[in-house]
Amino acid sequence: MDILKTMETALSELHEAGNYRVFAELERHCNDFPKATFYDDAGETRDVTVWCSNDYLGMGQNPVVTGRMTEIIQKCGAGAGGTRNISGTNHYHVMLERELADLHDKEAALIFTSGYVSNWAALGTLLSKIPGIIVYSDALNHASMIEGIRHSRCTKRLFRHNDPEHLAELMAADDPNAPKLVAFESVYSMDGDIAPIEAICDVADRFGAITYLDEVHAVGMYGPRGGGVAEREGLMDRLTVIEGTLGKAFGVMGGYITGPEVLVDFVRSFASGFIFTTALPPALAAGATASIRYLKESSAERDAHKANVAKVRAALNARGIPHMENPSHIVPVMVGNASKCKWISDVLMTDFGIYVQPINYPTVPVGTERLRITPTPLHTEADIRHLSGALCSLWSQCALARAVA
Ligand SMILES: *Cc1c(COP(=O)(O)O)cnc(C)c1O
Repeated sequence: MDILKTMETALSELHEAGNYRVFAELERHCNDFPKATFYDDAGETRDVTVWCSNDYLGMGQNPVVTGRMTEIIQKCGAGAGGTRNISGTNHYHVMLERELADLHDKEAALIFTSGYVSNWAALGTLLSKIPGIIVYSDALNHASMIEGIRHSRCTKRLFRHNDPEHLAELMAADDPNAPKLVAFESVYSMDGDIAPIEAICDVADRFGAITYLDEVHAVGMYGPRGGGVAEREGLMDRLTVIEGTLGKAFGVMGGYITGPEVLVDFVRSFASGFIFTTALPPALAAGATASIRYLKESSAERDAHKANVAKVRAALNARGIPHMENPSHIVPVMVGNASKCKWISDVLMTDFGIYVQPINYPTVPVGTERLRITPTPLHTEADIRHLSGALCSLWSQCALARAVA
């Protein structure tokens, strides 16, 4: 009983701090993205427009993807039937890994049940099984990388966010003979800023380090074939490992690493989080493959997406709604107060049929609470007008400061 009391206390502390997480219950509408039905606490429903999905391009409802998944579920059934080692390796997993290796121009790829697991398992394995290795981790790296690093118990240095000079300083202070790995992201999810990939790779090369880049928010989105920011900048060959997800722009689920054959084989052979878990459903692997192939050929979604991001920013500027400038597709609308952020999000849902999840501490620092808006190519001009109009009226009601044009 004492144990349950401890849990209750911890939960009431979360409530008091305003950090208790409430999930919005949605039913997504296929063929009508980004619309969904919202179920409130009383079980009442209302139709809403989703403005915070990571299905950035609407690929989750693209007929190329859903058609392929339907076809393969009819052909192979629902599940994989086993771990990769014991009967679970399906033809469609192998095809997907080939597709991913090709996407990032690497020798090999390995898929995991999520992007989180891929970071946790790959970093956890590489860093625990290479004697004496030191990891240099960007200060704003995602929880999945942090947990993988922590699990490995290797020596860890944090470099200041997107700061290659600080990275160089830290590396210069360490044993030149120690093996080294630099872990960072391309697009950072909350501020939408982009790493100086080339400068970081230059430092890594200077000190003989291998590099590990999380392109989760960039795959499918940047580069002529959707290979990410490293593809766009012609830098893919500078990175030892490129990691990504199949659950965001590709619209399905799963995660992966790509890299040199020997490294991928090493993770495949030693990563507990890869070996001892049921493989992804074959239909899901086939759907993800279809999505990647489609986005390798088609830039229409990326172009329409960019245009809509620009329209959202312009509409916010016209109304004086402050948002963080950045070179990516993520539009953080800054509220700067946890309870106002939550209140605006609630009223957007109930009075305006707009769903944007509030982002509060500990996901972002106190004082930088925000609404993280992710436009898609499928939001209409009317959706954009409705969003900016609603925010404008709530900004007045909350007496929040306007941005100066
Ligand atoms: C979402 C996210 C992940 C995890 O990917 P999933 O496929 O959702 O598990 C990893 N890294 C970053 C930076 C992310 O934002």
